[in-house]
Amino acid sequence: MKIRPIAFDSFGARSMCTVIETKDLKIVIDPSVALGPKRYGLPPHEIEIKRKEELWQKIKSETLKADVVIVTHYHYDHHNPNEPEILAGKTVLLKHPKSAINKSQMGRSAYFLQRLNELKNPPKIEFADSRTFEFGEIQITFSKPVFHGKDNRLGYVLEVCVDDGKNRFVYTSDVEGAIHDDQIAFIIESDPDLVFIDGPMTYQPRIFGSKLLEKSIESISRLIERTRVKEIVLDHHLTRDLKWRTKIDPIFKKAEEHGVKVKSAAEFGGLKEELLEAKRKELYCH
Ligand SMILES: [Zn+2]
Ligand SMILES: [Zn+2]
Repeated sequence: MKIRPIAFDSFGARSMCTVIETKDLKIVIDPSVALGPKRYGLPPHEIEIKRKEELWQKIKSETLKADVVIVTHYHYDHHNPNEPEILAGKTVLLKHPKSAINKSQMGRSAYFLQRLNELKNPPKIEFADSRTFEFGEIQITFSKPVFHGKDNRLGYVLEVCVDDGKNRFVYTSDVEGAIHDDQIAFIIESDPDLVFIDGPMTYQPRIFGSKLLEKSIESISRLIERTRVKEIVLDHHLTRDLKWRTKIDPIFKKAEEHGVKVKSAAEFGGLKEELLEAKRKELYCH
């Protein structure tokens, strides 16, 4: 199977949209993109607004060609209720809209479902928490709902494992660097070859302190030691920090010892990293 990052923070806007293609099936995870509303006290720069639009066009054209679409939770950088028609007629695997969810996401999920069900050719919707789905030789397994970060304040997300019988790919969604035992347990038990993790939230040290960063480094080190993983993509929350590589240096060291590659999604996709949100102050100076 082929895994392609479509839009990520290292591409210039908030997203983790990923495509998985096999000879019979095309899966899109979290088809949406958003911008950080305030950074350094500044609203998004016009360069970011333009990039977000470009990435959305790319996400849309990929999603229109997909058979299966996954939504891991109801934040706007992971689902887009404004253009539900791109999901018409598809199989859509959603985070459960009512159980293990916080109040704000419960409201958003109800609205999203209403928009999907109003379509002329509505998608076939399944709630995916803790379930496994089979499409020919492809198996898609979802974790139980795990915390969005360190506790349930921001709600819950689903982690996803896609297995084609030969290789396994894990997409963690917003676990903020896998800082809770439940979050890392799913990744390790899946024993993946390739993992996309959202990475620790080092750009907000007041919320995400050194203890949580240590926990994330410890979790990812365990993943490197205990599984057959060959490549780890760290992005999203982590690549909102220009110094992300230095902050997680012990992970790079551990990975090198085990012959594992650690990359941003842009690097993985062969693109130049453009951390536009982290550079917002500079964008306004030019
Ligand atoms: Zn989120
Ligand atoms: Zn997110």
